[in-house]
Amino acid sequence: MTGDDMPRPLSDVERDVVVRLLSVPFPGRDELRAQLPFATVEGRCDCGCVTVNLAVDRAAAPAPVLSGAPVSADISDDEFYAGIVLLVDGEGYLCCLEVYSIGDEPVRRLPPVEQINARPQR
Ligand SMILES: [Zn+2]
Repeated sequence: MTGDDMPRPLSDVERDVVVRLLSVPFPGRDELRAQLPFATVEGRCDCGCVTVNLAVDRAAAPAPVLSGAPVSADISDDEFYAGIVLLVDGEGYLCCLEVYSIGDEPVRRLPPVEQINARPQR
């Protein structure tokens, strides 16, 4: 992780992706949505991918999620297998928007939100 220009507000694209992930219902979803205005980006992955670490002001309420990775989405296309996972810390606050690829190339750009089909964890 690198610390340049951090913390910073979420970019519009990052925010849109999180909102998209939170468009499907699951326990704690509403609380996570309510945390977004309190969230900042406090670090990013230094491998070149678009993964960002998030911090949420504790003025927001914690989310009663059932899992530390309550929602994810597959963003694979013809060229690679990749996905997005929204991670929540042990206290119930957003902590990471992780974008991973299964392969050599990191995901360097978030996909258009229309391509993100969020799946709640069961
Ligand atoms: Zn990375």
